[in-house]
Amino acid sequence: NRVDNPYAGAKVYVNPEWSAKAAAEPGGTRVSNQPTGVWLDRIAVVAGTSGGMGLRAHLDEALKQKGSGEMVVQLVVYDLPGRDCSALSSNGELGPTEIDKYKTQFIDPIAAILSDAKYASLRIVTTVEIDSLPNLVTNTGSRATATPQCDTMLANGNYVKGVGYALHKLGAIPNVYNYVDAGHHGWIGWDDNFGPAADMFKKAATAEGATPADVHGFITNTANYSALKENNFTIDDSVNGVSVRQSKWVDWNRYVDELSYAQAFRAKLVSVGFDPGIGMLIDTSRNGWGGTARPTGPGAKTSVDTYVEGGRYDRRIHIGNWCNQSGAGLGERPKAAPAAGIDAYVWMKPPGESDGSSTAIPNDEGKGFDGMCDPTYTGNPRNGNHLAGALPNAPLSGHWFSAQFQELMKNAYPAL
Ligand code: BGC
Repeated sequence: NRVDNPYAGAKVYVNPEWSAKAAAEPGGTRVSNQPTGVWLDRIAVVAGTSGGMGLRAHLDEALKQKGSGEMVVQLVVYDLPGRDCSALSSNGELGPTEIDKYKTQFIDPIAAILSDAKYASLRIVTTVEIDSLPNLVTNTGSRATATPQCDTMLANGNYVKGVGYALHKLGAIPNVYNYVDAGHHGWIGWDDNFGPAADMFKKAATAEGATPADVHGFITNTANYSALKENNFTIDDSVNGVSVRQSKWVDWNRYVDELSYAQAFRAKLVSVGFDPGIGMLIDTSRNGWGGTARPTGPGAKTSVDTYVEGGRYDRRIHIGNWCNQSGAGLGERPKAAPAAGIDAYVWMKPPGESDGSSTAIPNDEGKGFDGMCDPTYTGNPRNGNHLAGALPNAPLSGHWFSAQFQELMKNAYPAL
């Protein structure tokens, strides 16, 4: 029987592989005992590779860390066909049509391992397919942000089928808690996206045998930089009669931060048929925005733009920027039940792991090169054609990026 909030009263698994890399960094032992997500990002990592622990090895280690208490293990299920259709950094190993391979060689083996009675005492949190369903809503059709790859994945249905299959298979295991990826406020927070995204999630949760009962909750801000709470302005403020919604930064969004978005989107999801008990996770691994540049109070009320620009913690050049952001810091430390409707703040994307390479690097992981990871790139419609704001000299996505880890520690908020 599942508990309402798996994080309540439980320890959370510390991935020894990430922990060792963090601890080897100057100053890294301040955070290396924190729990982070284990990314199942290709078929080979389920069984384990010569270079890394497989899923069973992680679960065996989790049993050791568990002792006699409760233990949450956080997995990211991330290998859809045609993965990462609006960007290039995390394109995966499966082509757009390889849905059967996804089911039989990726999801089925994961489900077989998670079903092992040996692991029945663990609370296994699975976050399902980052960025996929939101991309089908916002980066398709007649929108300026559309990409041919996302149009293909909408038309062939393989994101919806893949997510539905994963939810159904994993949801059948009594100690698995599925959380579906729900983007972040700077993506789904606009009226055009909010309702349609909820409908899309419902569609996936009723595909391939899944039902909404297979969904324990949703995760926002995975691997992203949106601030948890902007204290210096709210969406209801106005300056000289002009709403904050009309500022360049907010640009008609309904939300200015992740906490307000996650809570409101939870209610929306319940209204379209998800369980009233669903809970949200928020990834706070890189949304701290502390350090010397953090505003100490509201901006000047000269105009709505001076007010927002002077006060906002999130100092990205544009809210659509997502790769290795300069100036970012570690956010809230992982924590259970931090706010109404929120099951936990989590570090699902491990701090120090790159979002993508800043130049093209040949590889056998299916990873492409996306200009959004190059600090000299001047953007595309998805970031309003702004500079990318990325740190230079980044390695492939998922690879250790020491300079990013140091940046995150330096700008941590709360400070380390
Ligand atoms: C990469 C994955 C990696 C994950 C965690 C993603 O951006 O595509 O390969 O496992 O980040 O670092």
